[in-house]
Amino acid sequence: MQALSFGSISVDEIELPILTKKNIILSVLRLDKIHPVISGNKWFKLQYYFNKAKQDNRDHIATFGGAYSNHIIATAAAGKMLGYKTTGIIRGEKPLAISPTLSQAVEFGMELFFISREDYRNKVLPGEIKNKSDEIFFINEGGYGIDGAKGASEILDYCKKENYSHIACAVGTSTMMAGLIKACSMDQKIIGISVLKNNVSIENDLRDLLSPEEKTKDFKIIYSYHFGGYAKYTTELIDFMNDFYRVTSIPSDFVYTGKLFFGINDMIKNDSFPRGSKILIVHSGGLQGNLSLQKGTLIF
Ligand SMILES: *Cc1c(COP(=O)(O)O)cnc(C)c1O
Repeated sequence: MQALSFGSISVDEIELPILTKKNIILSVLRLDKIHPVISGNKWFKLQYYFNKAKQDNRDHIATFGGAYSNHIIATAAAGKMLGYKTTGIIRGEKPLAISPTLSQAVEFGMELFFISREDYRNKVLPGEIKNKSDEIFFINEGGYGIDGAKGASEILDYCKKENYSHIACAVGTSTMMAGLIKACSMDQKIIGISVLKNNVSIENDLRDLLSPEEKTKDFKIIYSYHFGGYAKYTTELIDFMNDFYRVTSIPSDFVYTGKLFFGINDMIKNDSFPRGSKILIVHSGGLQGNLSLQKGTLIF
């Protein structure tokens, strides 16, 4: 399996007429270049959990996610690379054909258990896992938790973070955003674009990962760019992703980073950023998720 390549992370400056017009600098931190599968923020969020499992002498890691989860596949890949047994507890009954994401997780040696949405919501473990739960190290869905945020706080070590007035990211569980808030100074603004619909409770989840001092930093979640909800998309979004790739050569995914780039571009258009802003967008990877789109939908 291909090694993780932190050396290939770059900061790409975007050139677009609108940026010149509005006097805004826009850069993208390319975490998508780390690895084709364990891409983006996922290794950052997982690293301290894997360390903890080792300290606890547990070589079996179990975690939770949906059929297209980047977290599931990243956990499977990291487990294979580091020599852990991995189990994925998947939301929803097993379909006739499993998603490309899950088949790749199985290729990496992950064992899958499918449970009903109700059991998933109520965290009812499959019997076989419950019986062994003393030997297993559990990681929350999406790597949510303090250790995930601590890992994500290292993301900004890969750029000159003090150069930016604004730092923007996509928000699923908010763990990455919590990490970015931890890493930023009081005079920087952190903007999260929520990819889920009606998930205002995420603000509480985010705050739970912050210290009292960190809670006073300048951060905000924006809820208007979910395009119908998690993993939902429209032709407007797909067209934008293709156009963005044509102009910048930066690929994005339709679940997270496509919505993030769309949202920030739209906010620049409607003057949500003052002139002179220097914005860093964290490209958190997730490109494998595009495999679930029909071939030819995207030009990259
Ligand atoms: C998981 C993921 C996110 C969301 O990160 P959270 O820490 O759950 O908010 C954003 N972008 C990509 C590409 C992801 O895979």
